[in-house]
Amino acid sequence: MQSLTYIQKGIFKLTEKPKPVILHPKDAIIKVTLSSICTSDLHIKHGSVPKAVPGITVGHEMVGIVESVGEDVKKIKPGDRVAVNVETFCGECFFCKRGFVNNCESGGWMLGCRIDGGQAEYVRVPYADNGLTLIPDCVSDEQALFVGDILATGYWAAKISEISEEDTVLIIGAGPTGLCTLECIQLYNPYKIVVCEENEKRREFVMEHYPEVFVVEPWECEEVLDELTEDRRADRVIEAAGGKDTFQLAWKCARPNAIVTIVALYEKDQVLPLPWMYGKNLTFKTGGVDACDCDEIMKLITEGKIDTTHLITHRYPLSHILEAYDLFASRENGVIKIAVEPD
Ligand SMILES: [Zn+2]
Ligand SMILES: [Zn+2]
Repeated sequence: MQSLTYIQKGIFKLTEKPKPVILHPKDAIIKVTLSSICTSDLHIKHGSVPKAVPGITVGHEMVGIVESVGEDVKKIKPGDRVAVNVETFCGECFFCKRGFVNNCESGGWMLGCRIDGGQAEYVRVPYADNGLTLIPDCVSDEQALFVGDILATGYWAAKISEISEEDTVLIIGAGPTGLCTLECIQLYNPYKIVVCEENEKRREFVMEHYPEVFVVEPWECEEVLDELTEDRRADRVIEAAGGKDTFQLAWKCARPNAIVTIVALYEKDQVLPLPWMYGKNLTFKTGGVDACDCDEIMKLITEGKIDTTHLITHRYPLSHILEAYDLFASRENGVIKIAVEPD
Protein backbone atom coordinates (compact mmCIF):
# COMPACT_ATOMS: atom_id res chain seq x y z
CA MET A 1 0.00 0.00 0.00
CA GLN A 2 1.04 3.63 -0.50
CA SER A 3 2.46 5.27 2.66
CA LEU A 4 3.98 8.69 3.19
CA THR A 5 7.23 7.88 4.99
CA TYR A 6 9.53 10.03 7.13
CA ILE A 7 12.92 9.21 5.61
CA GLN A 8 15.11 11.74 7.45
CA LYS A 9 15.08 15.42 8.43
CA GLY A 10 13.66 17.36 5.48
CA ILE A 11 12.54 14.31 3.48
CA PHE A 12 9.10 12.66 3.28
CA LYS A 13 8.58 10.15 0.46
CA LEU A 14 5.69 8.02 -0.82
CA THR A 15 6.80 4.42 -0.39
CA GLU A 16 5.24 1.01 -0.81
CA LYS A 17 4.68 -0.86 2.48
CA PRO A 18 2.83 -4.06 3.40
CA LYS A 19 -0.69 -3.67 4.77
CA PRO A 20 -0.58 -3.54 8.61
CA VAL A 21 -1.74 -6.54 10.65
CA ILE A 22 -3.05 -6.99 14.21
CA LEU A 23 -0.03 -7.21 16.54
CA HIS A 24 -1.83 -7.07 19.89
CA PRO A 25 -5.32 -8.21 21.07
CA LYS A 26 -6.36 -4.55 21.63
CA ASP A 27 -5.40 -3.43 18.07
CA ALA A 28 -7.68 -2.55 15.17
CA ILE A 29 -6.86 -2.18 11.49
CA ILE A 30 -8.56 0.78 9.82
CA LYS A 31 -9.06 1.34 6.09
CA VAL A 32 -8.43 5.09 5.80
CA THR A 33 -11.16 6.93 3.89
CA LEU A 34 -9.94 10.49 4.55
CA SER A 35 -6.83 11.91 6.22
CA SER A 36 -5.35 15.34 6.68
CA ILE A 37 -2.03 17.13 7.10
CA CYS A 38 -1.28 18.77 10.44
CA THR A 39 1.28 21.42 11.34
CA SER A 40 2.85 18.77 13.60
CA ASP A 41 3.65 16.77 10.45
CA LEU A 42 5.64 19.78 9.24
CA HIS A 43 7.44 19.88 12.60
CA ILE A 44 8.48 16.23 12.04
CA LYS A 45 9.67 17.11 8.55
CA HIS A 46 11.71 20.01 9.95
CA GLY A 47 13.36 17.67 12.45
CA SER A 48 11.89 19.46 15.47
CA VAL A 49 10.09 16.43 16.95
CA PRO A 50 12.96 14.51 18.59
CA LYS A 51 10.78 11.45 19.31
CA ALA A 52 9.80 10.97 15.64
CA VAL A 53 11.28 7.72 14.29
CA PRO A 54 12.72 7.71 10.75
CA GLY A 55 10.98 5.12 8.57
CA ILE A 56 7.51 5.54 10.07
CA THR A 57 4.44 6.46 8.05
CA VAL A 58 3.36 9.97 9.08
CA GLY A 59 -0.17 11.28 9.62
CA HIS A 60 -2.31 11.30 12.75
CA GLU A 61 -5.60 12.88 11.59
CA MET A 62 -7.85 10.43 9.82
CA VAL A 63 -11.19 8.71 9.61
CA GLY A 64 -11.95 5.32 8.15
CA ILE A 65 -13.73 2.01 8.31
CA VAL A 66 -12.75 -0.75 10.73
CA GLU A 67 -11.35 -3.68 8.76
CA SER A 68 -10.49 -6.05 11.61
CA VAL A 69 -10.08 -6.04 15.39
CA GLY A 70 -8.06 -7.98 17.96
CA GLU A 71 -9.82 -10.35 20.35
CA ASP A 72 -9.78 -7.91 23.31
CA VAL A 73 -11.47 -5.06 21.42
CA LYS A 74 -14.99 -4.60 22.83
CA LYS A 75 -16.45 -1.25 21.69
CA ILE A 76 -15.49 -1.33 18.01
CA LYS A 77 -16.32 -3.94 15.34
CA PRO A 78 -15.48 -4.46 11.67
CA GLY A 79 -17.53 -2.21 9.39
CA ASP A 80 -17.80 0.65 11.94
CA ARG A 81 -16.97 4.14 10.71
CA VAL A 82 -14.49 5.73 13.11
CA ALA A 83 -12.40 8.83 13.79
CA VAL A 84 -8.86 8.02 14.92
CA ASN A 85 -7.47 9.68 18.05
CA VAL A 86 -4.00 11.29 17.76
CA GLU A 87 -3.21 9.85 21.19
CA THR A 88 -2.72 6.23 22.05
CA PHE A 89 -3.68 5.54 25.65
CA CYS A 90 -4.20 2.50 27.83
CA GLY A 91 -6.96 3.94 30.02
CA GLU A 92 -5.56 2.18 33.09
CA CYS A 93 -2.30 3.82 34.21
CA PHE A 94 -1.84 6.61 36.82
CA PHE A 95 -2.20 9.41 34.25
CA CYS A 96 -5.03 7.84 32.19
CA LYS A 97 -7.15 7.32 35.31
CA ARG A 98 -6.90 11.06 35.99
CA GLY A 99 -7.76 12.04 32.40
CA PHE A 100 -4.16 13.02 31.53
CA VAL A 101 -4.06 10.64 28.58
CA ASN A 102 -1.37 12.66 26.80
CA ASN A 103 0.99 11.32 29.46
CA CYS A 104 -0.16 7.70 29.31
CA GLU A 105 2.70 5.52 30.54
CA SER A 106 2.38 3.24 27.51
CA GLY A 107 1.13 5.71 24.91
CA GLY A 108 0.97 9.40 24.07
CA TRP A 109 1.49 10.75 20.56
CA MET A 110 2.57 7.55 18.82
CA LEU A 111 0.62 7.36 15.53
CA GLY A 112 2.55 9.02 12.73
CA CYS A 113 5.41 9.82 15.13
CA ARG A 114 6.72 6.69 16.84
CA ILE A 115 4.58 4.08 14.99
CA ASP A 116 3.07 4.05 11.49
CA GLY A 117 0.33 6.65 11.02
CA GLY A 118 -2.52 7.33 8.64
CA GLN A 119 -1.24 9.08 5.52
CA ALA A 120 -1.58 5.65 3.94
CA GLU A 121 -4.29 3.27 2.80
CA TYR A 122 -4.51 1.40 6.13
CA VAL A 123 -3.41 2.07 9.69
CA ARG A 124 -3.04 -0.08 12.81
CA VAL A 125 -4.50 1.59 15.92
CA PRO A 126 -3.39 0.24 19.34
CA TYR A 127 -5.85 0.32 22.30
CA ALA A 128 -8.59 0.59 19.67
CA ASP A 129 -11.42 1.00 22.20
CA ASN A 130 -9.76 4.23 23.45
CA GLY A 131 -8.16 5.33 20.19
CA LEU A 132 -11.27 5.23 17.99
CA THR A 133 -14.49 7.25 18.15
CA LEU A 134 -17.61 5.91 16.42
CA ILE A 135 -18.99 8.19 13.70
CA PRO A 136 -22.82 8.22 13.61
CA ASP A 137 -24.50 7.77 10.20
CA CYS A 138 -25.63 11.42 10.16
CA VAL A 139 -22.01 12.69 10.42
CA SER A 140 -19.85 12.79 7.27
CA ASP A 141 -16.15 11.90 7.07
CA GLU A 142 -15.45 15.60 6.50
CA GLN A 143 -17.34 16.61 9.66
CA ALA A 144 -15.50 13.98 11.71
CA LEU A 145 -12.01 14.41 10.23
CA PHE A 146 -10.61 16.71 12.94
CA VAL A 147 -12.26 15.12 15.98
CA GLY A 148 -9.21 13.15 17.14
CA ASP A 149 -6.60 15.90 16.80
CA ILE A 150 -7.09 19.63 16.22
CA LEU A 151 -10.72 19.64 17.34
CA ALA A 152 -9.76 17.65 20.44
CA THR A 153 -7.04 20.25 21.00
CA GLY A 154 -9.46 23.16 20.60
CA TYR A 155 -11.96 21.51 22.93
CA TRP A 156 -9.29 20.82 25.55
CA ALA A 157 -7.83 24.35 25.26
CA ALA A 158 -11.28 25.89 25.80
CA LYS A 159 -12.00 23.53 28.71
CA ILE A 160 -8.77 24.16 30.66
CA SER A 161 -9.07 27.92 30.10
CA GLU A 162 -12.04 28.05 32.52
CA ILE A 163 -14.06 30.51 30.41
CA SER A 164 -17.12 32.29 31.80
CA GLU A 165 -19.78 34.41 30.08
CA GLU A 166 -18.17 37.60 31.44
CA ASP A 167 -14.83 36.94 29.80
CA THR A 168 -13.08 38.61 26.91
CA VAL A 169 -11.13 35.79 25.27
CA LEU A 170 -8.17 36.38 22.96
CA ILE A 171 -7.10 33.64 20.54
CA ILE A 172 -3.71 34.20 18.94
CA GLY A 173 -3.50 32.46 15.56
CA ALA A 174 -6.31 31.68 13.11
CA GLY A 175 -4.66 28.62 11.66
CA PRO A 176 -6.42 25.24 11.89
CA THR A 177 -5.89 24.83 15.66
CA GLY A 178 -6.86 28.44 16.41
CA LEU A 179 -10.06 28.05 14.39
CA CYS A 180 -10.99 24.76 16.10
CA THR A 181 -10.34 26.51 19.42
CA LEU A 182 -12.64 29.31 18.31
CA GLU A 183 -15.41 26.79 17.51
CA CYS A 184 -15.09 25.32 21.01
CA ILE A 185 -14.79 28.64 22.85
CA GLN A 186 -18.13 29.68 21.36
CA LEU A 187 -19.71 26.81 23.32
CA TYR A 188 -18.97 28.81 26.50
CA ASN A 189 -20.66 31.96 25.19
CA PRO A 190 -18.01 34.45 26.40
CA TYR A 191 -18.71 38.21 26.40
CA LYS A 192 -16.25 38.99 23.60
CA ILE A 193 -13.91 36.94 21.41
CA VAL A 194 -10.89 38.55 19.76
CA VAL A 195 -8.84 36.68 17.15
CA CYS A 196 -5.34 37.93 16.34
CA GLU A 197 -3.81 36.75 13.06
CA GLU A 198 -1.03 38.14 10.86
CA ASN A 199 -2.09 36.48 7.59
CA GLU A 200 -4.59 38.66 5.70
CA LYS A 201 -6.37 35.73 3.99
CA ARG A 202 -6.88 34.04 7.35
CA ARG A 203 -8.25 37.26 8.88
CA GLU A 204 -10.72 37.43 5.99
CA PHE A 205 -11.65 33.79 6.58
CA VAL A 206 -12.51 34.51 10.22
CA MET A 207 -14.52 37.63 9.29
CA GLU A 208 -16.48 35.65 6.70
CA HIS A 209 -17.30 32.62 8.86
CA TYR A 210 -17.41 34.20 12.35
CA PRO A 211 -18.86 37.71 11.86
CA GLU A 212 -19.44 38.24 15.61
CA VAL A 213 -15.71 37.94 16.42
CA PHE A 214 -13.28 40.90 16.62
CA VAL A 215 -10.39 40.30 14.20
CA VAL A 216 -7.08 42.11 14.72
CA GLU A 217 -3.51 42.14 13.44
CA PRO A 218 -0.63 41.53 15.87
CA TRP A 219 0.58 45.16 15.83
CA GLU A 220 -2.80 46.50 17.01
CA CYS A 221 -3.78 43.65 19.32
CA GLU A 222 -2.81 45.27 22.68
CA GLU A 223 -4.40 48.59 21.71
CA VAL A 224 -7.71 47.02 20.60
CA LEU A 225 -7.90 44.95 23.79
CA ASP A 226 -7.34 48.12 25.85
CA GLU A 227 -10.30 49.73 24.05
CA LEU A 228 -12.55 46.69 24.50
CA THR A 229 -11.79 46.11 28.19
CA GLU A 230 -11.26 49.57 29.77
CA ASP A 231 -7.50 48.94 29.71
CA ARG A 232 -7.68 45.66 31.61
CA ARG A 233 -6.91 43.41 28.58
CA ALA A 234 -8.02 39.82 28.02
CA ASP A 235 -9.39 37.62 30.80
CA ARG A 236 -8.31 34.51 28.92
CA VAL A 237 -5.59 34.20 26.28
CA ILE A 238 -5.12 31.12 24.13
CA GLU A 239 -1.88 31.05 22.13
CA ALA A 240 -2.35 28.78 19.12
CA ALA A 241 0.07 30.41 16.69
CA GLY A 242 3.55 29.30 17.77
CA GLY A 243 5.16 32.20 15.93
CA LYS A 244 8.37 34.08 16.69
CA ASP A 245 6.80 36.71 18.97
CA THR A 246 3.43 35.21 19.77
CA PHE A 247 4.31 33.91 23.23
CA GLN A 248 5.39 37.42 24.26
CA LEU A 249 2.20 38.84 22.78
CA ALA A 250 0.14 36.28 24.71
CA TRP A 251 1.27 37.31 28.21
CA LYS A 252 1.33 41.03 27.35
CA CYS A 253 -2.31 40.85 26.21
CA ALA A 254 -3.42 39.10 29.40
CA ARG A 255 -4.96 41.13 32.23
CA PRO A 256 -3.64 40.65 35.76
CA ASN A 257 -4.77 37.27 37.16
CA ALA A 258 -5.67 35.97 33.71
CA ILE A 259 -5.25 32.41 32.49
CA VAL A 260 -2.88 32.06 29.54
CA THR A 261 -3.22 28.73 27.76
CA ILE A 262 -0.41 27.75 25.41
CA VAL A 263 -1.39 25.08 22.89
CA ALA A 264 1.12 26.11 20.23
CA LEU A 265 4.03 23.77 19.49
CA TYR A 266 7.15 25.94 19.14
CA GLU A 267 10.16 25.09 17.06
CA LYS A 268 12.46 27.10 19.40
CA ASP A 269 12.78 27.74 23.15
CA GLN A 270 10.71 30.63 24.50
CA VAL A 271 11.69 33.20 27.14
CA LEU A 272 9.57 33.64 30.27
CA PRO A 273 10.54 37.20 31.38
CA LEU A 274 9.50 36.89 35.01
CA PRO A 275 10.73 40.35 36.15
CA TRP A 276 8.42 41.99 33.60
CA MET A 277 5.50 39.77 34.60
CA TYR A 278 5.91 40.40 38.31
CA GLY A 279 2.62 41.53 39.83
CA LYS A 280 0.52 40.33 36.90
CA ASN A 281 -0.06 37.06 38.77
CA LEU A 282 -0.71 35.06 35.63
CA THR A 283 -1.63 31.39 35.46
CA PHE A 284 -0.02 29.55 32.55
CA LYS A 285 -1.38 26.26 31.23
CA THR A 286 0.78 24.57 28.63
CA GLY A 287 1.26 21.48 26.59
CA GLY A 288 -0.36 18.84 24.44
CA VAL A 289 -3.99 17.81 24.27
CA ASP A 290 -5.52 15.23 26.59
CA ALA A 291 -7.69 13.83 23.82
CA CYS A 292 -10.21 11.93 25.94
CA ASP A 293 -13.36 13.97 25.14
CA CYS A 294 -13.82 12.72 21.57
CA ASP A 295 -17.22 11.11 22.24
CA GLU A 296 -18.46 14.43 23.62
CA ILE A 297 -17.05 16.30 20.59
CA MET A 298 -18.75 13.84 18.21
CA LYS A 299 -22.03 14.41 20.09
CA LEU A 300 -21.66 18.20 19.69
CA ILE A 301 -21.10 17.71 15.94
CA THR A 302 -24.20 15.50 15.74
CA GLU A 303 -26.20 18.25 17.49
CA GLY A 304 -24.88 20.88 15.06
CA LYS A 305 -23.03 22.80 17.81
CA ILE A 306 -19.59 22.32 16.24
CA ASP A 307 -18.94 22.34 12.50
CA THR A 308 -15.44 22.48 11.03
CA THR A 309 -16.15 21.30 7.48
CA HIS A 310 -15.46 24.80 6.10
CA LEU A 311 -11.85 24.45 7.29
CA ILE A 312 -11.29 21.91 4.48
CA THR A 313 -10.25 24.30 1.73
CA HIS A 314 -8.47 21.81 -0.57
CA ARG A 315 -8.56 18.10 -1.50
CA TYR A 316 -5.79 15.87 -2.93
CA PRO A 317 -5.45 12.18 -3.77
CA LEU A 318 -2.91 10.29 -1.63
CA SER A 319 -0.68 9.84 -4.70
CA HIS A 320 -0.27 13.67 -4.86
CA ILE A 321 0.18 14.23 -1.12
CA LEU A 322 3.62 15.82 -1.52
CA GLU A 323 2.03 18.63 -3.55
CA ALA A 324 -0.52 18.99 -0.76
CA TYR A 325 2.33 19.34 1.75
CA ASP A 326 3.93 22.12 -0.33
CA LEU A 327 0.64 24.02 -0.44
CA PHE A 328 -0.04 23.48 3.27
CA ALA A 329 3.44 24.70 4.25
CA SER A 330 3.19 27.75 1.97
CA ARG A 331 -0.12 28.92 3.55
CA GLU A 332 -0.99 30.27 0.09
CA ASN A 333 -4.23 30.10 -1.94
CA GLY A 334 -6.25 30.50 1.26
CA VAL A 335 -5.33 27.01 2.46
CA ILE A 336 -6.51 26.11 5.96
CA LYS A 337 -6.80 22.31 5.90
CA ILE A 338 -6.34 19.72 3.17
CA ALA A 339 -8.32 16.49 2.95
CA VAL A 340 -6.35 13.60 1.46
CA GLU A 341 -8.29 10.76 -0.17
CA PRO A 342 -7.00 7.31 -1.08
CA ASP A 343 -6.68 6.96 -4.87
ZN1 LIG B 1 -1.81 17.19 14.72
ZN1 LIG C 1 -2.35 5.02 30.26
